[in-house]
Order: sequence, then C-alpha cells, then structure tokens
Amino acid sequence: MKVTRALFDDVMAPNYNPAAMIPVRGEGSRVWDQEGIEYVDFAGGIAVNSLGHCHPAMVAALNEQGSKLWHLSNVFTNEPALRLAKKLTEMTFAERVYFANSGAEANEAALKLARRWALEHHGESKNQIIAFKQGFHGRTFFTVTVGGQPAYSDGFGPKPAAVDHAVYNDLDSLKALISDNTCAVMLEPLQGEGGIISPTNEFIQGVRELCNQHNALLIFDEVQSGVGRTGELYAYMGLGVTPDILTTAKALGGGFPIGAMLTTKDIAASLKVGTHGSTYGGNPLACAVAEAVLDVINSKEVLDGVKHKEQLFRDGLNAINAKYHVFSEIRGKGLLLGAALNDKYQGRSRDFLVAAVAEHLMCLVAGANVVRFAPSLIISDEDIKEGLARFERAVAKVVQG
Ligand SMILES: *Cc1c(COP(=O)(O)O)cnc(C)c1O
Repeated sequence: MKVTRALFDDVMAPNYNPAAMIPVRGEGSRVWDQEGIEYVDFAGGIAVNSLGHCHPAMVAALNEQGSKLWHLSNVFTNEPALRLAKKLTEMTFAERVYFANSGAEANEAALKLARRWALEHHGESKNQIIAFKQGFHGRTFFTVTVGGQPAYSDGFGPKPAAVDHAVYNDLDSLKALISDNTCAVMLEPLQGEGGIISPTNEFIQGVRELCNQHNALLIFDEVQSGVGRTGELYAYMGLGVTPDILTTAKALGGGFPIGAMLTTKDIAASLKVGTHGSTYGGNPLACAVAEAVLDVINSKEVLDGVKHKEQLFRDGLNAINAKYHVFSEIRGKGLLLGAALNDKYQGRSRDFLVAAVAEHLMCLVAGANVVRFAPSLIISDEDIKEGLARFERAVAKVVQG
C-alpha cells in the first residue's frame, strides 16, 4: 500500500494538520523522510525524544524487555516498574509513585488525589483547584479544564467544577483566589505550551508559602520541564521550591508512552486500593525503556551538557537576531527555549516553522508568537550548528517575504 500525506485526510480524524512530508527513520538528532531527505530535529517530538532517535540504550532495553514480558495489568506488579519507581524516589523528594501512560493521565491522577486527600483530611468544602492562565496540563476533560486556555476546554459541555485561574508570575492574583477551601494549586515550573515563561523566584516561593498558609497541595506539572530538560533532573531542583505532588511524562519515556505521578507517603495514602487505576500504567515495556532513559540522563555529564548546549542555542539565535531583527527575546531554560517574535512578526510563529521545514529543520511553536526548541538533550554541537544554519536560512526567507 502506498502511504501518502493525502491518505491522512482520507482516514484520520481532522484534529491535526501534520506537515507535508512523512518521516520514516531517525538516528540521534537526524530524521529522514520517505524521499530520503534528511532533517535536523530541534523539535524532539515535542520535548519527548530526550535521547534523540533510536538511542542504543533505549533500543537495547526495548529489545531485552520485548522478548521477556510486555504486559501484565496491575493485578500483578513487575520488576521494571519497581526498579523505576525506586530510582524516581531516590532521585527526587518523592516517596511514592503512580504510573500512567501520558502526561494528561499523570495530571488527572494528581488532581484526583488532591481532591481525595482534601476530602479525607478536611471535608467536602476544601475542593477548589487553582491553576494559571496560559498553563497546559493535557487534554482529558479535567486537565484541559485546569489548563488555562479556554480555547481548548470550551465547547464540550459542562466542565468539572471548582477550578479557578490566576495569572502566572502575579502573586496578588493568586492571593485574591486562594483560601482554606483551596485543595491544590497546580502549575508548570516553566510554562511550555503557554509561550516558554519562566517563573520569577519571588513568585514561585510565594506560591509555596501561600499553599502552606492555606494547607493546599502544591502540584508541579513537570511533564515538559522534567527529566533533564532544564539542566536539572527536575526544574524544581533549580528553583529551591519543593512541590507536594510532581507529574512527569514526555522525556521520561524518550519516545515510549509513559507518565508518572510522584508524591509523599502521607499524601499518597489517600489513593487507597480501588480509588484510581490504569490498565497499562506501569507496564513492563514502558518502565524498562524509561529506566534506561533515566539512567543515561541522570548523570553530571548529560545535565552539564544541557547547560552548555543552551548557551550554543542562545548564542546562535542572538547572532541570527542581530542580522534579521525578528525576536524580542530568547527565553526559557536548558533545552526548552523560546524565541519570542518582536512586534513586527506578531502572530507569525507558524510561518517560521513552515519555512524551517522547507530548509530541512524540525522545530516547534509555543503559541502564535514564539518559536520553540526542545531538541534531544544529547544533541551534538555539530547538529546544533547545522540546525541553526538551516534556521537562519528559514528566518531570511520569512524576512524577505
Ligand atoms: C504535553 C504536556 C502535557 C500533556 O501530556 P500528554 O502526554 O500529551 O498527555 C501536560 N502538561 C504539560 C506541561 C505538557 O507539556
């Protein structure tokens, strides 16, 4: 059967609009399409391919586990899940782990746990969840409602109740909403989809203090910022603020679907037998791959490398901007970077993305005004250089109209 982009429109639900070319193979930070054209990958599958494509450690883990045991359900536990959970608890503040298959599912578990915990310890009236405008937490109905982009949650009928939104980096807006009826405050410690927005120190510390004052759980959604992305294993480690619940996914599986919710022993206690679950969550294949990913990333070499590569990106993007004057700022942390378009190019981030593909470079957008880069955490310096050269040609094309 001949597979073409045209087939997409014939057989797929129309909720995506993928590029014209179809990638068929990847190695490291290079990808090839059906025609054999080679692309540099600065997108990383939306901050997922943390070790690039087909990293030997991941392939080995997949092959080994793939010929041993794929799936059991949670009627039985398994060795890879227990090993991975043990490592996650050793590497973070957490003492207990719940496995899911995606970021949204990890967040769904976090939100349900927060509600259960509040009900059990404080009663029915403590049910308010506060999140932030422009935040993104996934596409299930609860998580999309907690996310701060009504465009994603409107039009599906009545939403889960008692969810309010404050303004990111505006402590007063949170103060105006929070009370002893707040059960949880949820945020990304570096907003991704919302435009690559870092929290200020004052804000993130203030959020923690307000949660303490009102006995509300602080949930960090590290689905995008976690697993080495910022140059720390988790972004919270670089902020000096520890959450009560943390969710992780994307880079954790390096391309194999997995998500996890991490928390303390006391809070986890509210998730009693039968209160929540997942058929696939914690399956041996996913956990074996994630363990291999985590082993490679949680090293000084890789994490220091992320900081070094961030500088290469910043220098390269600043040099492009000095020539073409398209960005107002380069922001973000580690290898989650955003080039924010200046006034002249407002609303045109997709034009840059399309021009980049034409120059054989894969990158991302974060809203209409930011070009986003989330490459492999071990992308080589040469691939960064080559990708930036292609990006410069794309920028030149957009500027020339
Ligand atoms: C991508 C993302 C999610 C959703 O993850 P899925 O695996 O697509 O469900 C949730 N939160 C953040 C911060 C994300 O970037």
